[in-house]
Parts: sequence; C-alpha cells; structure tokens
Amino acid sequence: MNHGPYANHNKHEGHTVNMFRDRFWWSLILSIPVVLYSPMVQGWFRFTMPDFPGSLWLPLILGTIIFFYGGMVFVKSAVGELKDRQPGMMTLISLAISVAFLYSLYATVAGSGDALWWELATLITIMLLGHWLEMRAVMGAQGALRELAKLLPDTAEIIRNNQIQTVPLEQLRVGDVFFVKPGGKVAADGKIVEGKSEIDESMITGESKPAGKSVNDEVIAGTINGDGSLTVQVTKIGEQTFLAGVMRLVKEAQTSKSKLQILSDRAAFYLTIIALFSGAVTFILWAANGAGANFALQRTVAVLVIACPHALGLAIPLVASISTNLAAKNGLLVKQRLALESARRVDVVLFDKTGTLTKGEYGVSAIMVSSGSSYAQILQIAASVNTSSEHPIARALLAEAKKKQIPLLPTQNFKRMPGKGVSAEIEGKKILVGSETLLADVKISAGNLAQDQIKLSEAQGKTIIFIISENQLLGSIALADIIREESRQAVKQLQNLRIKVSMITGDSQEVAKWVAGELNIKEYFAQVLPEEKANKVKLLQAKGYKVAMVGDGINDAPALTQADLGIAIGAGTNVAVESAGIILVKNDPRDIPKVIELSKLTYVKMMQNLFWATGYNIVALPLAAGVLAFKGILLQPALAAVFMTLSTIMVAANALMLKRIKLTA
Ligand code: ADP
Ligand code: MG
Repeated sequence: MNHGPYANHNKHEGHTVNMFRDRFWWSLILSIPVVLYSPMVQGWFRFTMPDFPGSLWLPLILGTIIFFYGGMVFVKSAVGELKDRQPGMMTLISLAISVAFLYSLYATVAGSGDALWWELATLITIMLLGHWLEMRAVMGAQGALRELAKLLPDTAEIIRNNQIQTVPLEQLRVGDVFFVKPGGKVAADGKIVEGKSEIDESMITGESKPAGKSVNDEVIAGTINGDGSLTVQVTKIGEQTFLAGVMRLVKEAQTSKSKLQILSDRAAFYLTIIALFSGAVTFILWAANGAGANFALQRTVAVLVIACPHALGLAIPLVASISTNLAAKNGLLVKQRLALESARRVDVVLFDKTGTLTKGEYGVSAIMVSSGSSYAQILQIAASVNTSSEHPIARALLAEAKKKQIPLLPTQNFKRMPGKGVSAEIEGKKILVGSETLLADVKISAGNLAQDQIKLSEAQGKTIIFIISENQLLGSIALADIIREESRQAVKQLQNLRIKVSMITGDSQEVAKWVAGELNIKEYFAQVLPEEKANKVKLLQAKGYKVAMVGDGINDAPALTQADLGIAIGAGTNVAVESAGIILVKNDPRDIPKVIELSKLTYVKMMQNLFWATGYNIVALPLAAGVLAFKGILLQPALAAVFMTLSTIMVAANALMLKRIKLTA
C-alpha cells in the first residue's frame, strides 16, 4: 500500500502550491517592464523609458509569455470546469484574459486601438497571488492526515504455505499471520498469537508509556513495537482498521469546502453568466449599430474585464490567512478553516471535565478499606496497577505512593479501559482499578457503609476509584481535582454571549453535579464512555444545535471530530490535538470566547470583501457596456482595469485591517 490515496493527494497539492508560487513570482517580475513600457501608464505618470530596437514589441513579447506561462493554468482549469458543466471563477478569468490577449495581439499587430498588455499582465499576476495564498491556507490544515498516513509500513512478513513471504500491505487478508520485528511497525489490526513485547501506541491513544502486550492482546495498525518479537493474526485490514477510521474522520472534516468559499464560487458562477451574456449583447448591439468591430470589441473587453472576479479571488483567501495568523498570535492554532468559520454560529459549548474544566491535577484526599487490607496496601496496589498509565488519576496515585515511600509491586498484562479505569495482574491476581462502572461490570456492590461515605465525598466533588481483586472489593480512594480559575470566567463569558454551556465526563453523577454547580453549568452528562461522548454530540446536533466540543484526552477524540467545532486543550494528548479543528495552546478555556469573537470578525470581513469585490460590477458593468455612450460617458478597457485594481486594493486593505484587531472577549 502506497500509504493510501491520501498521501498521493497531498503530494499533488504540494505541487500545486509551489506551482502557483513560482508562476506568481515570475509573472510579477515580467510584468514590471510591461507596465513601464505601456504608453498609457507612461502618459499618466509623464515619464518615458529608453528606446531600444524592438522596444515597441516588448509588451507584446513579455505579455505573451505571461499569458502562456501564468495564464494557461487558469485556462486548463476552466476546461475542467466546463467539462463538469460548472463554469465558475476559472472560466471567467480565462475568458477575460483570453479576450484581452487576443484583442491586444490584434491591436498591436494591426497598430490600431489600445493594446491591454499591462492590464493582462497585472490581471494574471494578481490572480496567481490569490490562488497561491488560498492553496497555502488549505494545505496547512492537512498536515495531520499526512502524519497518520506515514504510520503504516509498506510491506508485511507473513507465513503462507509454511513459508515466510514479504507481501505488499494490500495483499494482507483477514486470518493471515504476520511478524512484527523489534522496533517494527504493526501492519494491520490483529491479535497476538505468539510473543510478548511493549508497544508504543502514543500516536493512537496519546498514552506516552508503551503498553505491555502478550498472547491474545490486540494490536493496532501503525503502532510501533518495542524490544520483543510478535506473531500477529490479522483481524482487520485496510479501511476497517482503527487507523483508517481515524484518518477517515479527519479527512471527512477537512475535505468539506468552507461555506464562504462555496458562496464566493457561486458569486463567480453568476458573474460568469452575467459577463458572458452582457459581453455578447454588448458586442452584438454595438456591431449592429454600425459602430465598427473595433469599438464593439473594446466595449466587450471592458465588460469582461470589469466582470472578472479579480478581487473576488483575493477576498476570501486573504481574510482567511490573516485571521489564521491573528489566531496564532492569540495562542489559537487553527487546523481547519471550517472550524473557525463555524465558531460564530455555535449554540452549545460542551466541555470535558477532567483536564479541561479542571486542571487534572488530582490529590489523594481519603482512602477507604473494605476488608482485611491496610490503607498503605490499597494505595500500593492502586499505584502499581497504574504504573504505565498517563491518566491524571494515575499520576496522582503514583505521586502519593512516592510521598509515602511505598514501593511498587511488579505487574503483568496491563490494560487500559478508557473512560473506566485500568487492570493488571499482581502476584497472579487480577486487579481492577477504576470507576463505579467497574463495580457494575463485575457485579459487586460497594456495601452500605462505604456507600454513604462515597456519596458524601462525591457530593464534595471528589472522584472515587475502586480497587477490586478477583471480584472482591478491597477498598476505594477519594481524589480531589482543582477547578481551573479560568473556567469560571470562560463559562460566564460564554453565557453572556447567549451560548449554552454543558459538561460531559466519564466521572460519576455526584462529582459531575458538584463541578457543574461550582461553575454554574446547568446541563451535564456523567458516566459517559468515550464512544458515547460522540453520540451525545450527535444528539445535540439532531436537536438543531451547532456544537463546540472542548477536550483534552483520547476519550474525547471521537466527540471532537463529530462536533461542528472541535477544540483541544494544547496540553492534552496527541490524538485529541489531531482530532480538533482548533487547539488552545495556552490551555486557557477563556480563549474559547476569543475563538468565537475572531470567527465573527472574520465573517464580517469576508462579507464586506464579497461586497467590495462584486458590488462595483453593478455600477461599472453598464458603463463598460456603453449604456451611457450617448452622453459621452464610456468606460475604456484600461479604465475598467483601473477600477478593478482599485476594488482589489479595497479588498486587500479591508482584509489587512483585521491584522490590527485585539481580541477582547
Ligand atoms: P473525563 O471524561 O472527565 O475526562 P475519563 O473518561 O478520563 O474522565 O475517566 C472517567 C473515570 O474513569 C474517572 O473518573 C475514573 O473513575 C476512571 N478512570 C479512568 N482512568 C483511570 C485510571 N487510570 N485509574 C483509575 N481510574 C480511572
Ligand atoms: Mg479529560
């Protein structure tokens, strides 16, 4: 497998960006002499350029080079648009530059009328700049997918007919048995049939410590093997693997075109129709009036130049790239433009609790013992089982054990149960450490006395974890987290913006209630497993809400992807960061209202720019067509180009104003 179709797609886009960049710079350089040697420009600014043999032909030669080198890109894309019966921006640009080119060629060779070489050259140069900027903004969002695609190896070593063969990844079938060498990448999702090793799954789970794996444990394609050798039986291949699923989610989020891009494409489409229609009508009417082909052609070119979405090509991309930079300056990393764009319409912000609203810095506040064992033993077991976990609770238990100088016990077969807890074997006994859900899973109860204590601690916002050995409850530990001070303000600011704030957590009902109460959050969902977090988002979306999800952990990743706007706390796990559209680098929830403010400002700028880019057409088009010719008012092609340039400058200046804005929310 050649890293899937995604890798190729990205390579292609990388080419396109550089192609537009190179063609822009060369066209810009070649345009300078064309402008300087234009009699019209010389006439306006009252200067002359030194003559040399053939200098009269200079604009024609350079203009022709620019047309074929820089302009053909658009003509080729226009052919594609026409084949798809979707004439748009490219068609209009091509039409304008082709007519301007042919007319100028004719005017120069026949020595009659005003050639439009400098307009043609600057037109192509500015269009190339607009497309380059746009491509670059789009590319920035796709790094994540490329990183994921790189995780897969190219080949796998399998046993077939009692022989070891090296086969390309796409020939792997479910049921095949393949080898994973020490340090090698896992080729497909599967089950270990032989061997023992530690596997680095950080790229998938965000957990930085390698996970111990042995026979019957599952492995995930794209993860990296440690020092042991493994023999694995394939359970899932290709599109069914976990990695492919993650890639599909990310890809889906990224391929959808931004809403305003669609709007501006549609505007270009209507402009194309109007331009074609008015161009044709203009030519026919003037020609039929006996005005002469030259005059009729001049009017037609003026109409096409005016209708050309010169500024429209810059209007959206320029604002997009400036707002992305402005965001970065404020500690907001925008990975998907669509995410930033949709932020302005968010109705509900759904916060993950642990690590997002709270600091995820737990302290052990009480230990309860059910039978026989001592406090120290409970802590020892809980911490030992959690040695390889990155969960905030694990860190707290390990820190507490260290403080009390309690040695850790050796463990085997460590396993994570996201949203529930962890398990491992100590001295041959299976130990579970985690939430109340685990008790229900093994069908035991916390006992009456403990129940009261637990409810009391939970009502004070303390997270209770249970330590279970071979289906027997050994005891429980109460842990207290700290609510981020910034969370209070963030919730308030969002509520002031009339945005609903909800909380979602894998923790218990009581703890969720306490934290929600502290932060004045009305609606919360507790004891939610990772898969169900995404379903909750879907549920809210089904009610017609635009949902923003804020999270930090692997258990939040599916919900972050499902949400209209996924926001990751920067200090969280890689997977959360990968699945989000926007990353809060400073881990400050108060940055969320800022995202919304920036989104609104960006939207206003884009709308203004769409207006400036197209609005002038309404006035200028009839003039260019010669509607007021009887009053002596005519818009010459060159003057039309000046108007067009002015509108482009307006659009650029308007976009640049966004740079100076300070986000205050
Ligand atoms: P949140 O959704 O608030 O980020 P999680 O989904 O990470 O919370 O965890 C939910 C619950 O699962 C925790 O409150 C805890 O009871 C239990 N849990 C998760 N991981 C561990 C662990 N490593 N050790 C003990 N308990 C855990
Ligand atoms: Mg969390």
